[in-house]
Amino acid sequence: MKQSEFESQLGEMFENNFRFLCEEAGHSINEYLKKLAFDQVLYYYRKNKKIIEQITRAEVKLSLPEQETPNDKIPYTIEGVVDIVREGDETWLYDLKTHDPDRIKAEPGKYKEQLNIYAYIWKGLQKNELDNTAIIATPLPNGLRAAIENGTEEKIQAEFDKWEPVIPFGYDEDEVADMIENFGETVERIENSEFAPPDVKRLESKMPGMKTNFATHVCRNCDVRYSCSSYREYMKKTRNARKDNIMKFMAPTASEQDEFVEGCLQSI
Ligand code: SF4
Repeated sequence: MKQSEFESQLGEMFENNFRFLCEEAGHSINEYLKKLAFDQVLYYYRKNKKIIEQITRAEVKLSLPEQETPNDKIPYTIEGVVDIVREGDETWLYDLKTHDPDRIKAEPGKYKEQLNIYAYIWKGLQKNELDNTAIIATPLPNGLRAAIENGTEEKIQAEFDKWEPVIPFGYDEDEVADMIENFGETVERIENSEFAPPDVKRLESKMPGMKTNFATHVCRNCDVRYSCSSYREYMKKTRNARKDNIMKFMAPTASEQDEFVEGCLQSI
């Protein structure tokens, strides 16, 4: 696939954004990871070009203020950002997720809940047109990643054609009251500092729709894993971590330390 003129500009935008994020966060990534990140942006654009070019309103902020949690009556506001596309006679509301499509399809209720609330605000309260809702899953499928890395042009094209990142959900405003209550319960738990981690069994269990377990998929990227009792238990159980060798498993890895140093140097 040849790069178009716009895709070259996309490369410049990516570079500027990358420099800004490095300076702001004090983190960096090596050239290999940077290429993976740009591939994701590039192929995401190519796959969703039609939708992107038809967006009539981008990053629309939807807000449902003056809510109260069910028991403690703690006030809160539900907010979300969506893209609106009008094509012909139809209006669609899109929400972007960094989750894998298989994971989204394995737990559709969780995603539908959020989309229904956005649909309720957009259509029910703001009186706008709406025909459907959908999620766009942003990660590249493993097959496409592998093909970009080692495959031929034909293989890349075949994997690209197989990729289906758009998952339509429809909407159902009748269930919105229950869904808002679920949100309220979660807000209440956060406000009451109920942050207990899931137990070790959950960390060992497979992520819905995926081959990896919770510890690998979620905990490995969690900044508080070093002080999390469940993660420590998991490491003891699965890696034979003990008091005298626990740091080997808990301390930042050499590549994480390199990344931190490189990020700091780039931001000077
Ligand atoms: S390591 Fe992080 S994500 Fe994993 S259980 Fe603990 S708090 Fe949750």
